[in-house]
Amino acid sequence: MPLLSPFNLPGRFWRGNLHTHSTLSDGILEPRAVVDAYKDAGYDFMMLSDHFIGNFDWPVADTRAFRSNNFTTIIGAELHAPETSAGELWHIVAAGLPLDFAPAGKHETGEQISRRAHEAGAFIGIAHPSWSQLTIEDGRAIGCAHAVEIYNHGCAIENDRGEGWYLLDQLLTEGTRLTAFATDDAHFKTPDHFGGWVQVKAQSLDPDVLLEALKSGHYYSSQGPLLHDIELNGKELSVACSPVDTITVVCGHSRTCVRTGKAITEASFDLKALEKGWLLKKHSPWFRVTVIDHAGKRAWSNPIWWDEVA
Ligand SMILES: [Zn+2]
Ligand SMILES: [Zn+2]
Repeated sequence: MPLLSPFNLPGRFWRGNLHTHSTLSDGILEPRAVVDAYKDAGYDFMMLSDHFIGNFDWPVADTRAFRSNNFTTIIGAELHAPETSAGELWHIVAAGLPLDFAPAGKHETGEQISRRAHEAGAFIGIAHPSWSQLTIEDGRAIGCAHAVEIYNHGCAIENDRGEGWYLLDQLLTEGTRLTAFATDDAHFKTPDHFGGWVQVKAQSLDPDVLLEALKSGHYYSSQGPLLHDIELNGKELSVACSPVDTITVVCGHSRTCVRTGKAITEASFDLKALEKGWLLKKHSPWFRVTVIDHAGKRAWSNPIWWDEVA
């Protein structure tokens, strides 16, 4: 019975990082060194997302020369504009920008520059909600966003504020269909790299194909564990993954369904039991799956909407 997206789609998973800085802004490694670091660490693609502000002369890193048969890059940047509820600059990951993306206008807001990037073809992600102390109103404000950064490794390592699910879960419960991406936000000043990434399901390692897959939510996020399958067979929800100690189903309520053990690689949840646990559609229109390994590393599915799968 049906595997759910992206596990039911043709192609393979490609590992990538969408949020990293170089000497084009406040990172300490040259662009080539950053890209080489990700190549050497086994990534299939990455994006330099340097800070798109006047102080750094509005960089959109041209990484095309670093592409090869088995490694590619996405062109993008981290966009900034006033102003969040906390009175700080917005940080917005825009993946898939033209190299000549115009500098921010003097009065351009976070929502406006995001929309302009969206219209230029970018995948738009609200960056590090916890680090930025974003409120639910902030989450609502970026109406064209595709996704929320649910894990930012640099913010986790340096600031203990790596988490973004608190914001995304609330937006989902309001009915906003956003997806969830993990990143590094590496600057290479601290051990802020290779800690969070996306696994994108696509038929080729082509930047445009990857971008379409990201916009369509055909990916999951990880700090290490692999998700192999999530399947809905009418009576059961089944999850298959690399060895983990916890497989949990999270929804729009505080209830959950969880299986724990040592190095378990699958779990099946009876949908009737889920209903008693309030996970079924009449109580929450969406759910998601998290797996946690013995070292505390997680992989997260994107939100799954009942009306899209059953
Ligand atoms: Zn940022
Ligand atoms: Zn950043």
